[in-house]
Amino acid sequence: MTEALNMAQLAVNRRNDEEMSAFLGLIYPGINDNQKGTLFDDIEKIATLTPAGLGESPNIIIYCDDDSRWRHATAEEIPGQEGRTDAQKAWIDPENDIVFDQRVDPRSLTNLDRQIPGCREVGTATRAQTYTNLRTPTPDHDRGSIVTITLCSRALTGPKIKYLTIGEIAAENLASRKASNLFKLPNIDTFKLLSATVVHELSHQILTSAIRYDDVRGANSYRWPNISNMDLLSGLENADSLAYTCIAAMLMEMGYSVDKDGDIKKKKT
Ligand SMILES: [Zn+2]
Repeated sequence: MTEALNMAQLAVNRRNDEEMSAFLGLIYPGINDNQKGTLFDDIEKIATLTPAGLGESPNIIIYCDDDSRWRHATAEEIPGQEGRTDAQKAWIDPENDIVFDQRVDPRSLTNLDRQIPGCREVGTATRAQTYTNLRTPTPDHDRGSIVTITLCSRALTGPKIKYLTIGEIAAENLASRKASNLFKLPNIDTFKLLSATVVHELSHQILTSAIRYDDVRGANSYRWPNISNMDLLSGLENADSLAYTCIAAMLMEMGYSVDKDGDIKKKKT
């Protein structure tokens, strides 16, 4: 969490810097000053989030319960449920009174199955999911008043998870000889760690932006090969593009630059 807010702040600090401008050109081709202004204003809303104090009710709650708080809604909670099969039933988070009722395929007339809360779904790579208590979307992009984010345990532990934050890599590897190995092979995607996932999820909930940050191309919305090949208007609404802007800011701060292939190079001094 700390690193998520920190990398957002580092991005905000670089809103007028040339190096950041060059980076933005890679994932937001042709971005203008207005669009840049909105982007960094929105990143600042993430950077300036504060923990709820004692006695205050938080409007963003982060769970690590693998979505176990969700259950199928009853017919009383969601009228119409009684005629649905289990697979077609809406889900409810009774702790926060949030309903999750999204069709797997909204365009299909025959498949009425509902999506399962992300961490509960078997066989997907979903690392986190964001929910809001708004039941009907409004034209002014109201997001409701409560947002919950679940960080799935598959994003926290597992054979392939070595680091959760960029800071850990820095401590263990950056100053050692391993650093050269680390940077020769991989690209910026190596740094899409839990902290960047948190930035991504928080971008979904920015309550006061004109933009609704989404995963604009479904499964093809994530990571460098996708975000670096997106047209400007899609990129500006894509959550992962915003998250990568924050990753890049952190890498710049650590003395690295990002090229068009998403490769990381040590800056010449
Ligand atoms: Zn997302």
